[in-house]
Amino acid sequence: MLEKVVIANRGEIALRILRACRELGIKTVAVHSAADRDLKHVLLADESVCIGPASSALSYLNIPALISAAEVTDAVAIHPGYGFLSENADFAERVEQSGFIFIGPRPETIRLMGDKISAIAAMKKAGVPCVPGSDGPLPEDEDEIRALAREIGYPIIIKAAGGGGGRGMRVVHSDAAVLQAVSLTRAEAGSAFGNATVYMEKFLENPRHIEFQVLADQHGNAIHLGERDCSMQRRHQKVLEESPAPGLSDKLRKSMGEICAKACRTIGYRGAGTFEFLYENEEFYFIEMNTRVQVEHPVTEMVTGVDIVKEQLRIAAGEELSHRQKDIVMRGHAVECRINAEDSVKFIPSPGLITRYHAPGGPGVRVDSHIYTGYKVPPHYDSMIGKLITHGDTRESALARMRTALSEIIVEGINTNILLHRNILSDAAFVAGGTNIHYLEKKLGL
Ligand code: ADP
Repeated sequence: MLEKVVIANRGEIALRILRACRELGIKTVAVHSAADRDLKHVLLADESVCIGPASSALSYLNIPALISAAEVTDAVAIHPGYGFLSENADFAERVEQSGFIFIGPRPETIRLMGDKISAIAAMKKAGVPCVPGSDGPLPEDEDEIRALAREIGYPIIIKAAGGGGGRGMRVVHSDAAVLQAVSLTRAEAGSAFGNATVYMEKFLENPRHIEFQVLADQHGNAIHLGERDCSMQRRHQKVLEESPAPGLSDKLRKSMGEICAKACRTIGYRGAGTFEFLYENEEFYFIEMNTRVQVEHPVTEMVTGVDIVKEQLRIAAGEELSHRQKDIVMRGHAVECRINAEDSVKFIPSPGLITRYHAPGGPGVRVDSHIYTGYKVPPHYDSMIGKLITHGDTRESALARMRTALSEIIVEGINTNILLHRNILSDAAFVAGGTNIHYLEKKLGL
């Protein structure tokens, strides 16, 4: 096994990684900014290193500081978590060139999947169904752009090849608007992502967001752990996730899961990953692959019993996957609510001192959070302060447990979106299951 791992992240995922390391007997190094000395995992880690000031650019995104931290502590590997440098191919490359193990895919794979155009091309070749589109960068010629749009059929969406975080996209409904949309998206993409390349896709009007979790080792084995439904979104950000996806047949799950696992073998994938799809009229359309652990990984862990973070560590150590596809059984249903330090109505971030915290409990309740009474949520980072996950034999019982958990949880001193989750959990359409990606914004009147 790996002897010592640097956890290059913060908050709940850093704590999650620390716990997985502990279970496997791996020593941990917490790296943190000057604003994060009081993070729970920093206090629990075997060693900790301050890597810079509060600003992420100078700390969690500071590649030389992270590599130095691994060097001075004699660590052997770096776990990037999610966000920050987790999908940065240059970082993965620098880690490996410095003699450390990067806990994730090979740098070339991250690069291939990080560019949406090359990712779509690779997936199409591997037999993964994609959204009808331009099959590559848009041409310069105006007539050609218009011809492409007409061929695909309006509405279409213009997307930046280097886009992420729900930015760099523009929906177009008519010929009259297409050229301006292309030039605006190009300009934005150039300044936001340093890459002005854009492409075109059919815009699906009422899809659901369904994604498949995969694991692949360095010995050519790849399996899938079923899917998650992440359609409950606000501004392209996931708010609540569940597994399995309501109404998805076992047959379709099996065939799509196998397509994803096969694609991993085709591209020589390594580690944990997620294939994201839009799902409409019983058809799946690949939109992108995330080459890292995801925020919503616990719902999959709850239904399959597989510890995804421990698997990441084992794979990085060169071990074979602990499970074969035939051993993976999805049992019951799990749902996750992302708890954010922001108010439930206007979503204004609400950092500050947590004066009282009470975590819910009981059968089938899991809390992944780094907060505690007396912890001060810093204003510099993402507003997520934890995740509440419940599991039950049926979707109904998972939801009932979530309602109970949401009624028990107490976070005082800051505003949170707990009220929003209580509202969603009592919404008739959500309870019925299968709402699409626009549902939450419509409900909120946005
Ligand atoms: P990002 O990398 O910024 O998250 P994605 O390609 O994953 O970008 O798309 C983010 C979201 O944008 C999707 O979850 C969906 O809501 C919307 N979207 C993207 N492509 C399409 C499409 N072709 N049709 C409809 N909605 C889309």
